[in-house]
Amino acid sequence: MRDIMSPDAERQRALVDAFADLARLSGYGHIMSPIVEDLGVFLRVGESTDVVTKEMYDFEDKDGTRIAMRPELTASVVRAFVQHNPTSLPWKVWYEGPQFRHEKPQAGRYRQFSQVGIEVLGSDDPAVDVEVIALGWRFYQALGMNEVTLLLNSLGDESCRPQYFEALETYLRDRSAELSEKSQETLDKNPLRVLDSKRREDQQIIAEAPLMVDFLTEDSAEHFAAVRSGLESLGIPYEISPRLVRGLDYYTRTTFEFASTALENAQNAVGGGGRYDGLAESLGGKPTPGIGFALGVDRILLACDAEGVFPAPDLAPDVFIVDLVGGGEATALADQLRQAGIAADRGFDGRSMKAQMKVADRSAAPWAVIIGETELAEGNVTLRDMYGDSGQTLVSRDDLVATLTAKLAN
Ligand code: AMP
Repeated sequence: MRDIMSPDAERQRALVDAFADLARLSGYGHIMSPIVEDLGVFLRVGESTDVVTKEMYDFEDKDGTRIAMRPELTASVVRAFVQHNPTSLPWKVWYEGPQFRHEKPQAGRYRQFSQVGIEVLGSDDPAVDVEVIALGWRFYQALGMNEVTLLLNSLGDESCRPQYFEALETYLRDRSAELSEKSQETLDKNPLRVLDSKRREDQQIIAEAPLMVDFLTEDSAEHFAAVRSGLESLGIPYEISPRLVRGLDYYTRTTFEFASTALENAQNAVGGGGRYDGLAESLGGKPTPGIGFALGVDRILLACDAEGVFPAPDLAPDVFIVDLVGGGEATALADQLRQAGIAADRGFDGRSMKAQMKVADRSAAPWAVIIGETELAEGNVTLRDMYGDSGQTLVSRDDLVATLTAKLAN
């Protein structure tokens, strides 16, 4: 797990703020759910996935309760939905925060990583699917990302899946001797997940496997067509990706992934999501359709680096105070400036003028205020323009806040 230091931490926060703005504009409320959940919440939703069976940080609490640090947030949000039973539907929420997966750490894959996401429960209107996908798409655009591809698929629902499962399983069993050992194991648990294999020896078999889109019932096919035409009417380009099944078990109908072509293939997914119309029920609630996505914050920032967009915010203070007198003078001045909304940093420890000017320089503050004995005795301080050409002037101590406010407004 990593420490995220300044200015990367501020950059991450700015990204979350940008996401929060978009979510608010689309009518989503914020949800903060606990980082740990009863282990059962995740077991019930992803028994055959690596995320749940192999990668979870789960442990026994002091009273013997089995809990897990969340590996993802959809299950938590749906658990919260079932628990609080909101009456106004659809229920639309957004979230952000850390997730935990015991994976092999590598570039773009961490054991603690952050996601931003949304979930909508209580509507199966294809317009909701379009709204959700569009919010993700507009978010990448807002960050300045241009190299994102939207991959789209439909996994059908309970009325078309049995026929497809049967066809897929028959096909895979016929060719099971050719599958990797890992995929032979997966086949016994969940044939659909074999399609998710990235192993080379499986690729040819996967390429020739029957496709879910060919098994959609009229209902599901119509739903999928409505989602596609909705995206088209918003000018959001997509690629149909008939083999996109995604990692978690609970997806139905619309499934999608956002891939960055600016990143290496193996870790190029910058987000993904889909419909999970059976999930609320499997967590003990009433049958309730739902859809959402989670976007990987760490990976989005890597993609932004690769595209040269969304730099870290400028953290330079407005002014740096060089304290040559000691006592409480610099403390009082810094406090007064900060209360006036002026970002002020300062030197400490009675260091030399030269040493403090070096720090002032490094801070990149456009202004320095130098508090010196002689000037102060006359009620003045020195104001230095660090980058412009107005040089250095004496300013009355009493006028300093007003003078700086005016200069910063220019
Ligand atoms: P998932 O919940 O697996 O659908 O993941 C959603 C998004 O989270 C992915 O598209 C990635 O951007 C990101 N993600 C998933 N796992 C990791 C990880 N271990 N490290 C960093 N980002 C991740």
